[in-house]
Amino acid sequence: MSVFEQMRAYGHEQVVFCSEPAVGLRAIIAIHDTTLGPALGGVRMWNYRTEEEALQDVLRLSRAMTYKAALAGLRLGGGKAVILGDPRTEKSEGLFRAFGRFVESLGGRYITAEDVGTTVEDMEWIRQETRYVTGVAGKSGDPSPVTAYGVYCGMKACAQVVYGEDSLAGRTIAVQGAGNVARHLVAHLVREGAAVYIADIFPEKVQRLREELGTAITAVDPEAIYDVECDIFSPNALGGTLNERTIPRLRCRIVAGGANNQLQDEHADALRLHERGILYAPDYVINAGGLINVAAELEGEYDRERVLRRVEGIYTTLLRVFQLAQERNQPPTEAAAELAHRILRG
Ligand code: NAD
Repeated sequence: MSVFEQMRAYGHEQVVFCSEPAVGLRAIIAIHDTTLGPALGGVRMWNYRTEEEALQDVLRLSRAMTYKAALAGLRLGGGKAVILGDPRTEKSEGLFRAFGRFVESLGGRYITAEDVGTTVEDMEWIRQETRYVTGVAGKSGDPSPVTAYGVYCGMKACAQVVYGEDSLAGRTIAVQGAGNVARHLVAHLVREGAAVYIADIFPEKVQRLREELGTAITAVDPEAIYDVECDIFSPNALGGTLNERTIPRLRCRIVAGGANNQLQDEHADALRLHERGILYAPDYVINAGGLINVAAELEGEYDRERVLRRVEGIYTTLLRVFQLAQERNQPPTEAAAELAHRILRG
């Protein structure tokens, strides 16, 4: 498919290819939909194998941001950016400042933030060139604890639907990834009395978490996490881990986690989960906490308590999504997209 065909298929307004060879910048900014407000979405830095893969990622992620903002009740549109490169070796002040100048050139149609591979410190460099950046140090800061709280609330909504009660005490939860979101999520789960099985490709991260939170946590090999018999499988690593190979292995009733783009094929894999009778919490609904957090920063006065109360709304939003999905006997992903489109149509 050509770039324009892909834009039409996803419904994008604008895609900006950014190049500044002197500092090694290759980036794509995708503005999906600005009906509700300026397109807000993080900038991801990743060593994509191909440019096509980077384009696919940014198109899909930015559309999810439109749905995420709409369903979270925010006056924001959907956007996302990717910088092509290795975040461990290819970062520099020049690169992020050049990216910041491209963001500035869009005059506020796109507002950036941190994402996988970028940090609050990188946002400070971008801020040297543009005010259209959120999540800078000293303001709302790292969104992960807020995202994790939203995922926790969303898991409770899932438990309510499947088990008729939203307590997670005594539930077994298999967590994929032990990064920023997972760390905070697991703390909530352990506090409530859940048993947690957790895997990360860096075992030392799991080990650190066990030292912090104790014996309610069992380390699992990353490849074996799909086979854990549990109530909830929670993807909190990178995208695409739910697919035709892994879904048949799951031994859970619920999939609910913070990762973006959990389904490798958003239609086929949503159907696979649906047909297996596994309740899936659409990623962009359950992981909206981070966006709600930065949106509060944009509105002016940042009040953490108010943000957390708003994040708790994810519980009710998911119940609405599940109810529509049940009425139509369709996967929750389709019900969530339908609800988002209703909001966009006004
Ligand atoms: P992170 O980089 O801190 O954590 C990801 C973890 O996953 C890392 O520890 C990594 O080693 C591990 N990992 C990677 N591949 C794995 C695999 N195959 N098996 C097991 N572990 C693996 O990132 P994060 O900020 O915690 O974000 C996690 C996910 O949540 C991402 O998909 C991100 O896009 C999404 N998300 C994050 C936020 C936020 O506020 N940070 C908000 C919304 C969505």
